[in-house]
Amino acid sequence: MSFPCTRCGLCCQKIKGIAELEEFHSGDGKCKHYSQHKGCLIYQKRPLVCRIDEGYEKLFSQLVGLKEYYQKNAEVCNSLQQEQDYPPRYRVNLDNGH
Ligand code: SF4
Repeated sequence: MSFPCTRCGLCCQKIKGIAELEEFHSGDGKCKHYSQHKGCLIYQKRPLVCRIDEGYEKLFSQLVGLKEYYQKNAEVCNSLQQEQDYPPRYRVNLDNGH
């Protein structure tokens, strides 16, 4: 099982104020390693906080159940998309066995 990220890219464009990503901030809210056309340019080496499933195992599994963790993540994804008027096809849907 893994989080059904739809790769909208919005979490990479809203990193201002995230302490763990301060060194990645380009100054306008976006990660300096994010490309609109290619997505994350350091995907294989991205920080733990950007890895939803690995982050759960290493940071949150003692604090919250996986289902609730996925629900909270999906709420943030979908709310970012609604704020930015992204098409509904990008919405994270947890009803498919996740
Ligand atoms: S905001 Fe959510 S759906 Fe969009 S790229 Fe980030 S994790 Fe994936």
